[in-house]
Amino acid sequence: MKHNFFVLILILTITSCQQNFYKQTKNEYGLIVLNTVQQYQYTIKKDSSKQLINLQNYIPHIQFNWYYATKNNFTKEVLYQQPTAYLRKEAAEKLHKAAIAFKQMGLGIKVFDAYRPYTITKKMWQIVPDERYAANPAKGSGHNRGIAIDLTLYNLTTGEELAMPTAFDNFTEKAHVNYQQLDKNDLANRDLLINTMQQFGFIVLPTEWWHFYLPNAEQYEILDIDFKSLDEN
Ligand SMILES: [Zn+2]
Repeated sequence: MKHNFFVLILILTITSCQQNFYKQTKNEYGLIVLNTVQQYQYTIKKDSSKQLINLQNYIPHIQFNWYYATKNNFTKEVLYQQPTAYLRKEAAEKLHKAAIAFKQMGLGIKVFDAYRPYTITKKMWQIVPDERYAANPAKGSGHNRGIAIDLTLYNLTTGEELAMPTAFDNFTEKAHVNYQQLDKNDLANRDLLINTMQQFGFIVLPTEWWHFYLPNAEQYEILDIDFKSLDEN
């Protein structure tokens, strides 16, 4: 009887710790942000679909152009140190299917950005506090939740990027997905990218032809864990 009592106390203590664990992590905007590997691992124990997949060895022929690891981006600052491309399992699986379809067309995926630690979103906002160009940290971004990806296509034979309406992070109308006054080739490449990604469950952002995300973003927590910590786990 005494033994059972201790077990009960132990269970109550653990439950209360788990509740605190979430309360503690609400940030200045009232958002829940998980900022340790332990917190993230706790969520994947409860729901394995939340696992972040390293895309490097998972997506056939994947290439990267990390603008945010250089000064050649809209903030003119180096934002990433040795980034790794991660997406939640569900998004990674869909991207894998899209990559197979692209491969059959002789094309490969080139990634500009995938999972982005929340701290970087805040930093981007500090430099450029304009919702037309950067995600407002009060809302968080699909990138912070691990279900958004920025990408283009390249030719598997020549290695050259396909011609697209604009470069990455061009914030003009020309980057809008309904913009039609374009070179025929640019238009065809853009629409091939968008149609194929949509076929595998991604949604394109109307103002950015390169940004794709899953509709159920809210079910994934905002994460603020740096690449190095994720790489080590
Ligand atoms: Zn994006």
